[in-house]
Amino acid sequence: MLRQYLEVKAKHPDTILFYRMGDFFEMFFEDAEKAAPILEIALTARQKGTENEAPMCGVPHHALENYLGKLVRAGFKVAICDQVEDPAKAKGLVRREVTRVVTPGTLSEPELLEGKEDNLLCAVRWQEAGGAGAFLDVSTGKLVAHAWGSPAAALEELSLLRPRELLFTKEECPPEITEWAELQGVCRTLVPEDEALRPAAAKRILEGHFQVSSLRGFGLSGEEPTALAAAAALTYAQETQHSDLSHIADLHFHQSQEFLLLDDTTLQNLEVLRSQRGEKRRGTLLAHLDETRTAMGGRRLRSWLLRPLLDREQIRGRHDAVEELVEDRQTGAAIGRRLARVADIERLLSRAVLGSLRPREAGALRDSLIEIGHLVGEIASCRSGMLVAVAGIEPAEELRRRLEVSLTDEPPTALRQGGVIAGEVNEELDRCRSLLHDSKQHIVGLEARERDASGIQSLKVGYNRVFGYYLEVKKSNQAAIPSHYVRKQTLSNAERYITPEIKELEEEILGAEGRVEELEREEYALILAAIVAAASVLRELATAVSELDALAALAEVATRHRYCRPRMLEAGEGILIREGRHPVVEALLREEFVPNDTELGGEDAQIVLLTGPNMGGKSTYLRQVALIVLMAQAGSFIPAASAEIGVVDRVFSRVGASDDLTRGESTFMLEMLETSNILRYASSHSLVILDEVGRGTATFDGLSLAWAIVEYLHDVCGPKTLFATHYHELTELASLLPRVANRTMAVKEWDERIVFLRRVVAGSAERSYGIQVARLAGLPPPVLERASEILENLERQEYDLTGTPRLAQSRSDERPRSVGQMALFAPPEELVASILRDLDVDQLSPLAALNLLHTLKSRLTEPPS
Ligand code: ATP
Repeated sequence: MLRQYLEVKAKHPDTILFYRMGDFFEMFFEDAEKAAPILEIALTARQKGTENEAPMCGVPHHALENYLGKLVRAGFKVAICDQVEDPAKAKGLVRREVTRVVTPGTLSEPELLEGKEDNLLCAVRWQEAGGAGAFLDVSTGKLVAHAWGSPAAALEELSLLRPRELLFTKEECPPEITEWAELQGVCRTLVPEDEALRPAAAKRILEGHFQVSSLRGFGLSGEEPTALAAAAALTYAQETQHSDLSHIADLHFHQSQEFLLLDDTTLQNLEVLRSQRGEKRRGTLLAHLDETRTAMGGRRLRSWLLRPLLDREQIRGRHDAVEELVEDRQTGAAIGRRLARVADIERLLSRAVLGSLRPREAGALRDSLIEIGHLVGEIASCRSGMLVAVAGIEPAEELRRRLEVSLTDEPPTALRQGGVIAGEVNEELDRCRSLLHDSKQHIVGLEARERDASGIQSLKVGYNRVFGYYLEVKKSNQAAIPSHYVRKQTLSNAERYITPEIKELEEEILGAEGRVEELEREEYALILAAIVAAASVLRELATAVSELDALAALAEVATRHRYCRPRMLEAGEGILIREGRHPVVEALLREEFVPNDTELGGEDAQIVLLTGPNMGGKSTYLRQVALIVLMAQAGSFIPAASAEIGVVDRVFSRVGASDDLTRGESTFMLEMLETSNILRYASSHSLVILDEVGRGTATFDGLSLAWAIVEYLHDVCGPKTLFATHYHELTELASLLPRVANRTMAVKEWDERIVFLRRVVAGSAERSYGIQVARLAGLPPPVLERASEILENLERQEYDLTGTPRLAQSRSDERPRSVGQMALFAPPEELVASILRDLDVDQLSPLAALNLLHTLKSRLTEPPS
């Protein structure tokens, strides 16, 4: 056995091997040592105390998926080595083979999957000119290949799609990509550079899989990285699944210009899928909009938000459908009720293809098809294009009827539990079942007949495991025993007999049990085959249902929160929003949300500089504009009274500052990296939101950078830009550059305190109100007082020659505490003397000398503070 184990293990060195022994899957040696603590099971040993001692641990086979989940989530791959012949019939050691390798990127078990998220494997191939990634979701059969011009583009896509497993070849894969995977904890699988990965083989694999004679239909020659990557993904899936992959029926190429591009940073800043505080869904745009009723719809909506559209016609198509469902709430509600009863058809189909669909899931598929039939009826009279298309789908009638006829009303989870196939499907099955169920009746009948024939009234039929069925007669009735009775056993006061008839009946009953199981298995295999045969119809159905679900969800949210339909303008035109709101903040806020207008773009306001106090609502406003644009292009209605939106090609954002220490980047470095990305890639059709640039460094450095960045955005790239800043100096740009406009968050001030009005108005803020906000935050009064004093001094421009405020000098211990306003500086004469002492006159230009003279004079003449 150990030899067999080691042979199998040698073929799967990078996995944890689950080796089937009886009712358990056992792990040995290092595998056992690695797995036991993760699975929280006891580590024992085989042949303990001998030199052949082998560490081992095991899990019961019926709980396999639970344990698999733990290991896969911990980033391990698991090879399942099962018995492939009946142990009862095996001669010698039972034959065992690896029947499946479970890896994070190739999961298809529903218990291990997140319903509303894709579970992606990404195969990367690279050539000199560039590379490609093929993203495969084995659980739904979707395969999409992306071509990348640079490792940076690859990282952008990878961060966005977040595959669970990366497949790569050592020689060619750019190190940035594998490093990214390592940092992100993505499982990395190294593929040896063997035959299967060469272009000729890749071409063969793809042509064979998609059953085409040429790849030209896919726009491929078979030699480009996209084809190589797709072939690598398919091959790996084949190796791990050990089953048919015909549900992967299409290869889609991602052309980046089809969609509005959102990089990972922007998605994060806007909290589209994940909130800023960790990975939680709460407080995200997706969670806010996700009123979908099915997992398929959830995935669809998510992909709409990840990839908003660029094409105005397509966007309008979605808006039309949402509008129709908003106006006809009755239909919308009816759709919702029906959808709630539809299962994840995409994943059920994949499981059917993989041969692992359970009877209960087949039942769920049947119920879903019935429900979809009604659903189509609900939207039969709808007029908008997308709804009409859904209403016109081929509803898989034939398959539905087949499932209705063949399956019992509530099939069990496992086939061996029995009761999967309905009556009147298979005559023999019905007969065997009736034999089985009526066995008592048959036995009772026989007993009665034998009593009559023999005249022995105490005769009875019994059963034990050694002799099977028998007739028992008391010793006192021995004389009346018919001659054809064969004695089998003698008890103290009775004898047991068998007859040919009772043995025949017994054989039939016991045989029936096995036969029922066999026939159910056969019939079930036919059902699975019928499901697989309807794969393309089911896939289209799933797509249609998921779109309907996403549209219905958008309509529901639009109604609930009073959203409006935006008017979409050509790319490059401006953005005009009346009374816009932040969809998520509005929903979570206890107070009333204050709506605000936006006019961005055109000759006056390509760049809007937004100033205002801390807590004034600047960040919220910036994000709200970006989210409204994103929502509009994803097909959603938007939180506003009305809006006209010129389609944008990318949304960029740089918001706040947080260290990414794991990436080894400081706050300021990160800020500059993000800004440089924006300046490099933003076009005149893009939307840029910048929330504080240059805050992570010294004031003058930061201000100069911010100034230059605005000039560059104005003169060179030309994107529509919202720039929130605390540098009031920047607002002067509005008078220098024609397309820069100033806006500010209005506040009311009284008695040293401020009230935030949350209104965006024309003009610029005069002050930051940082100290007032600090007071609201409860900073100790002495700190606030002292800060006010320093501020006052700073505002009087008490700088030294290098431009640094001279604050340190003011902290003299002898300073009398009673003096309200503390002297920040030493006596002016001393200061002037010390400056002159340190001065290198040879290094001073005439102009600087003049300026210095002026400064020194003013020090001496200004009244002491
Ligand atoms: P800072 O400069 O400190 O970053 P900020 O000006 O960016 O501040 P925000 O963070 O946008 O301010 O807003 C502060 C708080 O004000 C938000 O948490 C939100 O609760 C509330 N708020 C913002 N905008 C509005 C609004 N339009 N209506 C009602 N409340 C709002």
